[in-house]
Amino acid sequence: MTSPAYRDPSRPLEERLEDLLARMTLPEKVGQMLQLDARGDLEDVVATKLAGSILHASPERMHAAVELAAATRLGIPLLVADDCIHGHSFWPGATIFPTQLGMACTWDTELVERMARATAVEVAATGIHWTFSPVLCITRDLRWGRVNETFGEDPLLIGELGAAMVRGYQGAGLDDPTAVLACAKHFAGYSETQGGRDASEADLSRRKLRSWFLPPFERIAREGCRTFMLGYQAMDGVPITANKWLLNDVLKGEWGFTGTLVTDWDNVGRMVWEQKVCADAVEAATVAVQAGNDLVMTTPDFFEGAQEAVAQGRLREEEIDEAVRRILKLKLELGLFEDPRAPDRTRQADVIGCAEHTALNLELARKSLVLLRNDGTLPLDGGLTVDGQGHTVTAGGPRTIAVIGPNGDDPQAMLGDWAGASGQVDWMPDGHPRETVTTVLDGFRAAVPDGWKVTYAPGADIGRLVPDPQGPVYPDGQPRPPLFGPAPVDEALIAEAVSLARAADYVVAVVGDTVALTGETCSTATLELQGGQVALLEALVATGTPVVVVLVHGKPSVLPDAALAAAALIEAFNPGMRGGQAVAEFVLGLIEPSGRLPLSVPRHVGQQPVYYNQVRGQHGDRYADLTQEPLFVFGEGLSYSTIEYTDLAILDEVVAWDGVVRAEVTVSNTGARPVLETVQAYISDVVTSVTWAKQELKAWQQVTVPPGDSVRVRLTIPATACSLVDAEGRRIVEPGAFDLLVGPSSRAADLLRARFTLSQP
Ligand code: BGC
Repeated sequence: MTSPAYRDPSRPLEERLEDLLARMTLPEKVGQMLQLDARGDLEDVVATKLAGSILHASPERMHAAVELAAATRLGIPLLVADDCIHGHSFWPGATIFPTQLGMACTWDTELVERMARATAVEVAATGIHWTFSPVLCITRDLRWGRVNETFGEDPLLIGELGAAMVRGYQGAGLDDPTAVLACAKHFAGYSETQGGRDASEADLSRRKLRSWFLPPFERIAREGCRTFMLGYQAMDGVPITANKWLLNDVLKGEWGFTGTLVTDWDNVGRMVWEQKVCADAVEAATVAVQAGNDLVMTTPDFFEGAQEAVAQGRLREEEIDEAVRRILKLKLELGLFEDPRAPDRTRQADVIGCAEHTALNLELARKSLVLLRNDGTLPLDGGLTVDGQGHTVTAGGPRTIAVIGPNGDDPQAMLGDWAGASGQVDWMPDGHPRETVTTVLDGFRAAVPDGWKVTYAPGADIGRLVPDPQGPVYPDGQPRPPLFGPAPVDEALIAEAVSLARAADYVVAVVGDTVALTGETCSTATLELQGGQVALLEALVATGTPVVVVLVHGKPSVLPDAALAAAALIEAFNPGMRGGQAVAEFVLGLIEPSGRLPLSVPRHVGQQPVYYNQVRGQHGDRYADLTQEPLFVFGEGLSYSTIEYTDLAILDEVVAWDGVVRAEVTVSNTGARPVLETVQAYISDVVTSVTWAKQELKAWQQVTVPPGDSVRVRLTIPATACSLVDAEGRRIVEPGAFDLLVGPSSRAADLLRARFTLSQP
């Protein structure tokens, strides 16, 4: 018997696709649209519901799933997906990098691209074809639990870092066996919460969407990202899953996206049981297919619902065919019919957590740390060095460092959400193997010179998990996670910590949050350090020993006075498996600080939202009881040297409306240590026909400046980037006067200003 055309790789893709589609029954087609949870009954998922895709398959179940799919009538291979969002999250011992928020602190697209490439190499070796990454949501309200998954608050930074990730994941092309599909999520507007509450209705006009929320997605669509995931929330009463305007007119129409869509978790079911905009599974399936969705994540009822919708004449089979085509096309392009890319143990042994990826992870962790305050205590003892044998040496005498704090020796805190034991999967209850994670304590023990002493005490607890009084499951049967309860101040823990602090030359206080305060359904009402941490910091600062505060958390915290009175403050977010080593090297001066904040850090939770690119036009500029100024601004970060910006010059005072704005600035290192400086360029449109942001980041450049040296930096900005969105929702450039603002952060006092004119077309 000759093999069917769809199995013949020498035939054109379109021919194979149509041949296969013509052989498929309606249940087989609807099955292809299902993406089901592989932690359930695999036989039911693959053999009965004929799912085209699975997610959350444990390493043990991966082979069985591939074999079950091969045994189905047409042997259509599975598309296997997971959330490998800062490394291969749930593969024991895989390289876990800093969270996206930590990565964003590097402002380094090339480094982020390499991170994604390394992740793809690890992921592809384990039978997974598709990662649900990058997250392009804009951070607005920091109470939202998913801030750690974002690249921060600026559309340009998010778009460029996201595009770099897409290039890294998808590699040289889908026929490369190490390529994995990228997924831009959560399309779009999900982060515009009400009070930070997850997945609440997003009150977003189309103009606001087009102004700030859509640009990163458009950037990534044009980069060739093959898939998009739709957010949970509704806008103007319409769940994204049903939003024909966003999916068809904007994404597929205006941006020409021809890739594949996936809903978020049970989005189709939620239209029935949660948002209550559909009466039943039949109506929900009809709405979802007609809005242009392809894969339907974890709504098993869609299987019967969609078939019934066709039987009742509410859906045409051809409408289902369109979605199935987009799914099969991906499988054909990946070559899964010839090679289902099953897990490969030999390759896994070579690449998972390999030395090259570990070194890259360290490089990323080092660059992700942001120095926010320093009274001169850092680097310790004026900075240590490494001798020819690789030993850390110091000019001073032996020292004692007390590492103190609940996150000082907590491996999960280094990794943050979407890694190991963060709660999404059930096969890693103890997280990643302990020896694969360097905590801050581990980092200091390994990095200090011979003769130095490192002591440790937790000093405080952050919180405990308590059962949700509403019961252990949601209405759809999904487990309901336990709740966070703050730990009481523990005087005995504080006393132990204080006695170590008194006996030490320096305290490194590692405070922050836990995964129980991070992620979906874990938004917070406050941003304060929880449990006994504030009391601990107060007690530590009162000892008089210099205290270096290291913040290890999923999102910015509101800092107590004691943290601001400390000798130095380092923002580390969740710095990944090598984070502890990076922190120790940073504090000891073995590396130079170079991270910059990708979001604004408030003084008080009541300042939310406090992002830097606010729209002009409110009365006054402060609250009656507090300034509106954030504590630390977007773009901020210190080095161990001093930097001066001078002589900003616009090269052409009049720029053609379709030309390029060119400027130069001198950056001088006036201190004693080298600097990797992130030169930031903002545009402020002087008069606009509609209200607009007071300033927006339009370019940045990283330059190394040796001590005592100066560098003349050239910045270019396409005039088309000096745009705004008009009252009709069109992105346009309005000729006239603009200010170019250049400096080391977004703070007005840090920026040099020069005016130019964009000429009429
Ligand atoms: C999250 C997505 C994730 C999906 C699959 C959802 O709850 O919102 O970001 O990709 O689960 O795990």
